[in-house]
Amino acid sequence: MTKVKTTCPYCGVGCGVLAKAGHAVTGDPAHPANFGRLCSKGAALGDTVSLEGRLLAPMVDGVETDWDAALGLVASKFKKAVEEYGPDSVAFYVSGQLLTEDYYVANKLMKGFIGSANIDTNSRLCMASSVAGHKRAFGADTVPGQYEDFELADVVLLVGSNLAWCHPVLFQRLAAAKSARPEMKVVVIDPRRTATSQIADLHIPIRPDGDSGLFNRLLVELEVRGLIDASYTDAHVQGLEAALEAARANQSTQGLAAQDVAAFLDLWCGVEKVVTLYSQGVNQSGIGTDKVNAILNCHLATGRIGRPGMGPFSMTGQPNAMGGREVGGLANMLACHLDLENADHRHAVQSFWDAPRMADAQGLKAVDLFQACADGRIKALWVMSTNPVVSMPNADAVSAAIRTVPFTVSSDIIKETDTNRCVNVLLPASGWGEKSGTVTNSERRISRQRPFLPVPGLARPDWAIIADVGRRMGWTQAFDYQSEAEIFREHACLSGLAAQFGKDFDISGLADLDDEAYAALRPTLWPVPKNGSADIRFFANGGFYHAGRRARMLPISTSAPEQLARAGTLTFNTGRVRDQWHTMTRTGRAAKLGAHMAEPYLEIHPQDAEAFEVTDADLALVESAYGSAVLRVLISEKAQRGSAFAPMHWTGETSASGRINPVVAPKIDPVSGQPASKHTPVTIRRFKAAWYGFAAGVGRISPVADYAAIARSATGWRAEIANRAAPTDWEDEARRVLGITSGEATVYADPGRGVARVAICEGDTLLGVFFAAPEPVRVARSAVVDLVGQNVAAAQALAGVPGLDRPQRGAIVCACFDVGVEDIRRAIATGVQTVDALGACLQAGTNCGSCRPELAELIAAAPRPRLAAE
Ligand code: SF4
Repeated sequence: MTKVKTTCPYCGVGCGVLAKAGHAVTGDPAHPANFGRLCSKGAALGDTVSLEGRLLAPMVDGVETDWDAALGLVASKFKKAVEEYGPDSVAFYVSGQLLTEDYYVANKLMKGFIGSANIDTNSRLCMASSVAGHKRAFGADTVPGQYEDFELADVVLLVGSNLAWCHPVLFQRLAAAKSARPEMKVVVIDPRRTATSQIADLHIPIRPDGDSGLFNRLLVELEVRGLIDASYTDAHVQGLEAALEAARANQSTQGLAAQDVAAFLDLWCGVEKVVTLYSQGVNQSGIGTDKVNAILNCHLATGRIGRPGMGPFSMTGQPNAMGGREVGGLANMLACHLDLENADHRHAVQSFWDAPRMADAQGLKAVDLFQACADGRIKALWVMSTNPVVSMPNADAVSAAIRTVPFTVSSDIIKETDTNRCVNVLLPASGWGEKSGTVTNSERRISRQRPFLPVPGLARPDWAIIADVGRRMGWTQAFDYQSEAEIFREHACLSGLAAQFGKDFDISGLADLDDEAYAALRPTLWPVPKNGSADIRFFANGGFYHAGRRARMLPISTSAPEQLARAGTLTFNTGRVRDQWHTMTRTGRAAKLGAHMAEPYLEIHPQDAEAFEVTDADLALVESAYGSAVLRVLISEKAQRGSAFAPMHWTGETSASGRINPVVAPKIDPVSGQPASKHTPVTIRRFKAAWYGFAAGVGRISPVADYAAIARSATGWRAEIANRAAPTDWEDEARRVLGITSGEATVYADPGRGVARVAICEGDTLLGVFFAAPEPVRVARSAVVDLVGQNVAAAQALAGVPGLDRPQRGAIVCACFDVGVEDIRRAIATGVQTVDALGACLQAGTNCGSCRPELAELIAAAPRPRLAAE
């Protein structure tokens, strides 16, 4: 079997990959999103496809059953709820991980047949404010440009985006373009100085939610400098004067250095080719939609949109967030960018589907949906391919809400997740590498996901599961799909109908693909109309989707940074790390990805650390009005004073106390319904434990502790632990933590100092090692992990330091070649001064390139070696 061309299942860049069972996944040189590049997550995909932990058979109340029994139960419970309480008594919560064909069938079942719009998606948490902003400005949810615009631009603004970690391949493309054309300028607008700032000519440490004030300031400056493009705005835009008036009154740049603001204005105004990319820092806000429209206003006012090298660009988080938008998989959308509130649109879709009962009003958006679960309005809930108990704000309340619903279902590839522990029925879905369909990336490019692995156990594609339930609910013909190709053709055909209503999303030119052509479909940018070709960029010559084909500039008055944090609190900002994806159900399986950031952390500014009396490597208790988390303190000058950042990936499986979304307020943007996940006021204080520990063993570690974080390692598992109560016997404690009952334990304990070390060996083989101390333990973790499973003397393991033949590597920076931070520091100390030179001597950064910003940071932070002449 040759390698199969498929698409990475993680972020919205949508990289093409070449995959074959048992082989490393590589980038597809022919795919226009990545041209062969991959990031560390994509490169490690081959390590994540094992069957460990997979859900392989349907389960009802914890007992395995067959499909007939499980789906019969699901169909009857949903049907009964609809009959007794009406269509709005049931809900689907779906995911940007679904393929377009899955999404299409789920949306059709809920909106056209059950007759409710209670289908929302985890994409609500990611880009709903961009969708709402696009619709307000353009009349449709249209991303005007494409990736090559970043390479063609003279100035690229990255607003609320840590592109280097969250969309690494696009960052690599941008970095390469800047390197080839150093006159290109990059501006990063972000409260934190992230890895992305490594290539920035200017970093603007915006105050939380200060973005719309800054872009209002820009709009005013564009007018002052005579840069409003009257020929464009006269012909294609309305609302310019009102937007300018609001901008003049709300142009706050509070907290920013005057020279930074001046430099920003000069850069934006000084060239025509400007791309403004924005992501979660803009969207995940109580004023996210206004922030989006403040950005769009500047591009509309100057006509810098839809032409090569210029335009606003919303970057989606998930692999198929765009596909979900296309099929109408949000509670406020109809299929194919048609409008739920428009009776003509509804009737057209109803007639196309031959549907009995169309939803005629918006359904419940994510936060409201789980609130409706909590207060008893939802009688049956189906969660598909997502883990809301980890990812939703106020997550503990979401867990309780799901348990309140009388009948709950989850279709998933993994058996044990925080959400799956709350539901009645588990349905095994086929996963990446097994399923077939399409996804659409952030630049509107439709790519195929193709199978290269056998489907395990009784798993089925999501579309087949949903369609089966539709048939069992009585809609035999409408859900009689035989293949994903058939669903795609129906979706493409419906888009042609939408185009007749003047909508942007038109792939009717793909409606006649036969099965063979669908199987061979190359990455394709939409629109693809039936007759003739279409421009792949939108709006260079107007043609917006509001009545009169004019865009609308919005008056934005939400400009002054809100007083988010009260005195004595910090603004809690949530985000992502480089090598993990969402709730780690896949990336958590790859040891090399766990070695970069092995536990959850709280990044705060040194002055805040001093004020809150925590020091580096302490554990901090983070508390809000909603919940709490315990996180490792990481003090950094890159943090903004008054803010605290934490990544969102850890779960009940990997760090129960490190789950951060129980802390996050369920506050939403009133226009988009998107949660403001970056703005919760919190207090922090030192988490005082009786002892802190580190353990590494050959088997899975499942410590029961006040704080624990586990990660896979190259030799087994590793864990950070802390407990308030001291154990009575350290060997018992070590065995309990490591889950090892056999072997011989060597114990070193100093009760006076509260220090203990335990090594457990079976013959000459080290099964596990455990360290405890009254302060966070200082051991060479990577060296200890390397010893596990090896023939080593217990005394060597208990030393906790690398042997002479095993230099300490430290946290892994280059996941591809397993190069640690200490390896890199040693090389820099010998005089290595560039990222390329580090690559030449250590290979670091020479494969996927995701670590190059961190390599540059380490070089910049290192003391300059003294020259002989100095
Ligand atoms: Fe996958 Fe990385 Fe590409 Fe995103 S940038 S699609 S995670 S390989």
